[in-house]
Amino acid sequence: MKINNPTPIQWRFSERAQKLQSSAIREILKVTMRPEVISFAGGLPSPATFPVEQMRAAYDKVLSLQGKIALQYGPTDGYGPLREWVANSLSTSDAKILPEQVLMVSGSQQGLDLLGKVLIDEGSKVLVETPSYLGALQAFSLYGPEFVSLPSDDGGLLPEAVETLGQGARMLYALPNFQNPTGRTLSVERRQALVAACDKLGLPLIEDDPYGALSYRGEPLPKMLNMNPDGVIYMGSFSKILTPGIRLGYVVAPRPLVEKLEQAKQATDLHTAQLTQMVVYEAIKDGFLKEHIPTIRKLYSDQCAAMLDALQTYFPSSASWTKPEGGMFIWVTLPKHIDSKVLLAQAIEQHVAFVPGAPFYGNTPESNTLRLSFVTVPPEKIRKGIEILGKLITAML
Ligand code: PMP
Repeated sequence: MKINNPTPIQWRFSERAQKLQSSAIREILKVTMRPEVISFAGGLPSPATFPVEQMRAAYDKVLSLQGKIALQYGPTDGYGPLREWVANSLSTSDAKILPEQVLMVSGSQQGLDLLGKVLIDEGSKVLVETPSYLGALQAFSLYGPEFVSLPSDDGGLLPEAVETLGQGARMLYALPNFQNPTGRTLSVERRQALVAACDKLGLPLIEDDPYGALSYRGEPLPKMLNMNPDGVIYMGSFSKILTPGIRLGYVVAPRPLVEKLEQAKQATDLHTAQLTQMVVYEAIKDGFLKEHIPTIRKLYSDQCAAMLDALQTYFPSSASWTKPEGGMFIWVTLPKHIDSKVLLAQAIEQHVAFVPGAPFYGNTPESNTLRLSFVTVPPEKIRKGIEILGKLITAML
């Protein structure tokens, strides 16, 4: 029997839960779902790149041939052949990565949360870029760190700051390739200097790299993981090179950390879906990504060029922006007195959306910044949306 007039519960959320806030981006995304809105706000990959047929065939094959295994519980660390694939894909001639160093996770976002869980205490110092990935700041925040923002310039973070700021820190979180939110890339020299600076302090360096494969020109730069596999924790994802809906990523780390992360993951979700891992392995094992990734690069590169061209045409000369060599984002800096949140309110009235820059800062936000994603909007709409933004900004000068 159902209870009549149940007592309304006075929810007493834990202190930890009280720190949780809805992501600024998710709130904006609700508005931008409307079809009339030209949205540069989402961090979503373009659905035009999703390999639906390849995935359908892989699901079919796995379920037909290995259905009973795929539908059973699996090991916490992940599906063996896929871990091996990840280890091989990351190994170089002088830095071999072993499958035992790979933990499969339910999206690299889960990896960020697990890292926070096992490395951060209340008040622990965590070094982040200025600005940094909002989702990581959010994931780490739950564990109460003290964020220390590393100074940066157009070439990304400045490794020379690490020696003084990194004393006693628990970790440094870096995004070397086509960074979210700025699109910036760290040069090989800076990568080497950063790895050396962290090594000197014995400071774990997290290399979050979901966009690394999406370089528009030439080969990706060397990974920091391969410069020091004993001190770098690498995070990869299938979200931007295959599809995000499958929620599959991985963390590569020295064994003692993998073991601890595995224990934390066990408590969280036992393991990442076995079916998904087997299907992804089936879909990619014969080299599919080698033909698929170039099609994503071409689409994003063309749309990035369209946006850069439109920015040059319609934005005032007092605004500046990054010129990414890959990935999904452009970062705009407006004259100091313009608050991008105010701009957003006006832009939404004219059916254009973007993400204001402030939530991407670990410490003092710069409210005259914003992030634009060009990957889900066709070139003619990119032009129209940037024209509208340009006019609004010019009117605010
Ligand atoms: N790191 C960065 C820098 C990202 O941009 C994202 C996704 N937007 C993630 C991690 C999380 O990706 P996943 O879909 O693998 O959880």
